[in-house]
Amino acid sequence: MEKIWLSPPHQSGNELRYIQQALESNYIAPLGPHVDAFEQKLASYAGVTHATALSSGTAALHLALKILDIGPGDIVICPTFTFTASANPITYLGATPVFIDSEETTWNMCPNVLEDAIRHLIQKGKRPKAVIGIHIYGMPMQLDEILTICQKYEIPLIEDAAEALGSVYKGKKAGAFGLMSIFSFNGNKIITTSGGGALLSGNELYTRKARFLASQAKDEAQHYQHSEIGYNYRLSNICAAIGLAQLEVIEDRVKRRRENFEFYKQELRHIPGISFQNEPADCFSNRWLTCMLIDPKTGNGYNRESIRLLLEKENIESRPLWKPLHLQPVFKDALYFGGNVAWRLFEVGLCLPSGSNLGITDISAITASIKMPPRS
Ligand SMILES: *Cc1c(COP(=O)(O)O)cnc(C)c1O
Repeated sequence: MEKIWLSPPHQSGNELRYIQQALESNYIAPLGPHVDAFEQKLASYAGVTHATALSSGTAALHLALKILDIGPGDIVICPTFTFTASANPITYLGATPVFIDSEETTWNMCPNVLEDAIRHLIQKGKRPKAVIGIHIYGMPMQLDEILTICQKYEIPLIEDAAEALGSVYKGKKAGAFGLMSIFSFNGNKIITTSGGGALLSGNELYTRKARFLASQAKDEAQHYQHSEIGYNYRLSNICAAIGLAQLEVIEDRVKRRRENFEFYKQELRHIPGISFQNEPADCFSNRWLTCMLIDPKTGNGYNRESIRLLLEKENIESRPLWKPLHLQPVFKDALYFGGNVAWRLFEVGLCLPSGSNLGITDISAITASIKMPPRS
């Protein structure tokens, strides 16, 4: 059987046409009309005034932190239950990440733990300079609570919506809540530019600063003049052409991923010990990845690793959920607030193949494999 991937790219059919336009107009790089159009359409989709197309989501986070003037000695709060790219940019700037546990409902940053951590840090004279909030696997975080805390302590929220394009919280799109927010268009995300990201903000000054920093911080002058250190972080016009074709079909991609989730849930929820990520009433997740928890204590012989290996034998890719960052060797000395919620998600959680191009035959084969009696 051909390999079934976790979350492969899914072409819309218009990619080649837009790339061809870009080539014919010779806007191959650096910027060009496809970048402009992609930024406008992305901003309007997310309901934010400005978007800046960048070479990755990681670059977008780096710039967001840089624009807030974060540097050595500063503390930035970050959920522990996420991909390392959420925290790496903190360290690029010489700042220090402090990690926060998840809550049980959406698996995102726990507001209670967040407030405890902020209070504790302020008492020690170490007021955090920013909070990074994440919608993990596309599920919106508890934004009302988190925004209230950020406002109360006057700490800006940077919204890492890398996994959440198309998700909605109380009628507003993910990406429309932070002082700045980021998306990723890496190959495994819900849409891709073959590699890319974006920084969004309602603040025009931030946007101008982002574009300045992303193109080597060139001062206004005919000669090359620099008063600041910049980066080479802009998205190429060819990649933006791919992004335009992908963005046209985002609603279909969200629909397809949600259908995957519903199929898995219908087929598997009757197995004792198996459960899925909750979607609270006022949330709408793009269900970027379908994640399943397998409680090994139910005594039916299943556990996360046995299911992962069983699928691997069938040439089906599945992955454990994110390993908490405070348990990563590289962050072993970082301060952490919370208990074992994220750790347990990692211990018992598995991401199932979730591509929007996953066919009914393949997804049926996956659920059939999982329903087979475990061979332990
Ligand atoms: C993918 C991802 C990123 C990084 O995006 P890249 O475009 O791969 O740099 C950041 N945060 C989260 C939560 C992600 O899943």
